Amino acid sequence: MIFPTTKRPQAPAAAALQPNLAVVLASLFAGLFAAQSGAAEERTCGPDALGTSRTIEIDRSKGTAIGLQSYPRTLDLHDHEVVLTFDDGPAAPTPQVLDALAKECARVTFFLIGRNAESLPALVKRAAAEGHTIGHHSYSHPDKTLRLMSEDAAKADIEKGIAAVDKALGAKAAPFFRFPGFADTPELVADLTSRGYTVFGSDLWASDWSKMTPKAELDLVLSRLEKNRKGIVLFHDSQAITAQMLPEFLRELKTRGYSLVHIRPGDAPTPIAAAGADWTSTTEPIIAKTLGPKAKLAPHEHDHGAQEAPKSGDP
Ligand SMILES: [Zn+2]
Repeated sequence: MIFPTTKRPQAPAAAALQPNLAVVLASLFAGLFAAQSGAAEERTCGPDALGTSRTIEIDRSKGTAIGLQSYPRTLDLHDHEVVLTFDDGPAAPTPQVLDALAKECARVTFFLIGRNAESLPALVKRAAAEGHTIGHHSYSHPDKTLRLMSEDAAKADIEKGIAAVDKALGAKAAPFFRFPGFADTPELVADLTSRGYTVFGSDLWASDWSKMTPKAELDLVLSRLEKNRKGIVLFHDSQAITAQMLPEFLRELKTRGYSLVHIRPGDAPTPIAAAGADWTSTTEPIIAKTLGPKAKLAPHEHDHGAQEAPKSGDP
């Protein structure tokens, strides 16, 4: 996700739509190579690598909406466990991100923009071949967000995105969806979750849509992580600063005793932890500010669409 702004800091989709030939060829070869070398890469990761400590299955038969920045529940992670997620790819910095992850045997989840997947299908295949989970992030990542579109148009964009990613992947991607700009609607959340899609918000983010140095991003996301002590972390593999800071971030996770948890669709119930009694959305005020009053959902409206929201404070 990138928060909607009148002038976006970068236009990864537009950039990805017009890749130069060298990038395309490099991606193709990278994809072919990775498909054959993924297993070998796994074996070369020693105990010094961050690695992936465990896998959590996300129930594909029963969707929900998680991530404390938008929803009053999240994945039930242990202290010092993190789930890493990357939005808005595939894009020019994605190979560098994949290289950094492969070096540490780190498995993550990518929420792809459909039209980017159409442009760079080899990178979609490479990410999957290297063990990462592929999820969805709409087809066009509309500037005005899915919330401000008609319900039919929003659903059409979501479906087109799912089809584009699945086609690039050559298989069904995970039933995981993240709303661009976190700008959901109760109806769209209800529609997705009723079809087995889990809607992912995040527990913390790196603010990598803001202009800053890789070192500043590293310090910022580590300080947020030390405060939260765990959580679903949002990055953008479309952002060069994230690609640049990622090797050091993964090293810091290892040094500081964090474990990386991988998520993938499965048949077990999704382990959920309810938010505390003082929970509030951190994304709604930002959406209201960036999109204006029309985008603001009344709290009761917003809760209505979420499936079986456990009331905060209930046992
Ligand atoms: Zn996005």
